Amino acid sequence: MIRLENISVEYRLKAERVQALRNVNLEITEGSFDAIMGASGSGKTTLIQLIAGLLTPTAGNVVVSGQNLRELNDRAISEFRNRTIGFVFQFFNLPSYYTALENVALPLVFAGVGESERRARARQLLGEFGLEARMHHKPDQLSGGEAQRVAIARALIGNPKVILADEPTGNLDRETGTHVLELLQRVSRERGVTVLLVTHDEKAATFAQRIILIEKGELA
Ligand code: ADP
Ligand code: MG
Repeated sequence: MIRLENISVEYRLKAERVQALRNVNLEITEGSFDAIMGASGSGKTTLIQLIAGLLTPTAGNVVVSGQNLRELNDRAISEFRNRTIGFVFQFFNLPSYYTALENVALPLVFAGVGESERRARARQLLGEFGLEARMHHKPDQLSGGEAQRVAIARALIGNPKVILADEPTGNLDRETGTHVLELLQRVSRERGVTVLLVTHDEKAATFAQRIILIEKGELA
């Protein structure tokens, strides 16, 4: 599903250069649940951004679902991202003025799906995630665990092939974090979605099938 070929990323800030990734080669199988672990600053978020086409590598190729992202222009990259990738973030990133239901339905607005179908699909998914009683609440009326489950539903609503979760339990207590990881596990098993979990928590990483360790920009 995902192939990184000889990837290097160098950030340039005026005179300063930061080598964020160096000669990274990686293959990720369709439907797998892998964790990327490494210290802060080791290049985890950079790796995620490459796969999402949010960043072009200084050298090497990123191939997702058979598509070399280098061959796509900006517009085609956005379309690829909307179709293929779902994101889950540490701080949920749910707009506070929308209810849980509206937040989950939002990506379907951009996909051109009509309102009644949007609401029906969002309601169905929130129900599956045990959130039927919280649908009409706004993010600040939800617990952290509920908010993250809403965010996972939002990431899934467009049926992406890949979920990229960057420290999704970083802002949750242990027990709530476990529920979120179990949900990601279920999503990978039941829907065949490829899940990539970034974490620096060893316990969290045990939920994955494989742990990819990254140290100072290199795979260890
Ligand atoms: P992690 O997610 O593992 O904490 P990052 O991928 O965010 O690591 O960062 C890897 C390295 O690249 C760090 O040294 C970081 O400071 C640097 N870096 C990340 N983003 C930028 C950027 N936009 N400009 C310059 N340096 C950056
Ligand atoms: Mg990071």
